[in-house]
Amino acid sequence: MMRATCDLPLAVDPDAPYGQNMSMHGGQLPETKPDGQAYEVIKPDAQWRERLTPDEYHVLRQAGTERPYVGEYTDTKTRGTYSCRACSAELFTSDTKFDSHCGWPSFWSPLAGESVVEIEDFTMGMRRVEVRCASCGSHLGHVFSGEGYGTPTDQRYCINSISLKLQPIE
Ligand SMILES: [Zn+2]
Repeated sequence: MMRATCDLPLAVDPDAPYGQNMSMHGGQLPETKPDGQAYEVIKPDAQWRERLTPDEYHVLRQAGTERPYVGEYTDTKTRGTYSCRACSAELFTSDTKFDSHCGWPSFWSPLAGESVVEIEDFTMGMRRVEVRCASCGSHLGHVFSGEGYGTPTDQRYCINSISLKLQPIE
């Protein structure tokens, strides 16, 4: 099996001050989806800061990247549903989570097509596809295709643990 390389996010210096790694985003995320529709959940920046920890805010609202292999759910096998940590919308399920060995929780599909929005991202000098919560627009991670993981979609939704909250199945 071809092993995907995960060197790209590692290039981000985790110790860089907030904002330095994601100069394209700078401040607040846009309030509309790429198709011009408004996100359902819109809060003033101050409310997001109040609701989220500084680390959560950095990833979710400033499109930051969690360091690899440290996330709470990187290797989690617990069955359940993963919701957005910012707005609680259901985003992924354990049924599509797989071992990518890349250091971040990886899914081969979102819970439903409309759960997330995918946006072209040209930061870091190349084209990637950013994944955001379709409900509140918060940053979740990126999606990569055609890496040869042998999953049904051959896609890897590489999602920051800190963007998610797992609701285990009782
Ligand atoms: Zn959300």
